[in-house]
Amino acid sequence: MTRLVLVGPPGAGKGTQAVALSERLSVPHISTGDLFRAHVGEQTPLGKEAKRYLDSGELVPDSVTNEMVRERLAESDVKAGFLLDGFPRNTKQAEVLGQILSESDNSLDAVIQLKVAEDVLVQRLMSRGRSDDTEEVIRRRQQIYLSETAPLLEYYADILITVDGVGGVDEVSARVLAALRERT
Ligand code: AMP
Repeated sequence: MTRLVLVGPPGAGKGTQAVALSERLSVPHISTGDLFRAHVGEQTPLGKEAKRYLDSGELVPDSVTNEMVRERLAESDVKAGFLLDGFPRNTKQAEVLGQILSESDNSLDAVIQLKVAEDVLVQRLMSRGRSDDTEEVIRRRQQIYLSETAPLLEYYADILITVDGVGGVDEVSARVLAALRERT
């Protein structure tokens, strides 16, 4: 079970869990948010294009995002697996991901959904202090999650593993690892 996607609303702890899980599973952690932030920081052409979307909480256009992911997945360290965090964010991206993987006769093993109640989410985001964590942008990202990303739960119903995301970092990773073991 090494080709994995982590899904959950903003504030569900995806980033934190992705770091912990990628270490435990010995697969690279691929965060499209981190990739975009690195481009923005380095002021690359891609970063300049992506910045306004990150600042407003909108999704970066699929054409830009998919190309960046395609390049990342072509690197040699992902041959044995990966943990995607923040991608796909909509069903169109999911289709592209499926296509990229099928080109090397691969497919996803599981999609892990971190489930967290809404009041806990807002609390977590407000205390995180990232520059796109203003109340307005948080609200927009939540809306986009519901309208664009939540349909992925249906799209991936066959390989979906839902885990309670409330608790300590180690506690939640232990739940995810146990759920993955149960599936294999
Ligand atoms: P994240 O770090 O996953 O919360 O992502 C931060 C921001 O990066 C999002 O609000 C989007 O603007 C952008 N982003 C990250 N992943 C994607 C994606 N798969 N598709 C489009 N935009 C993305």
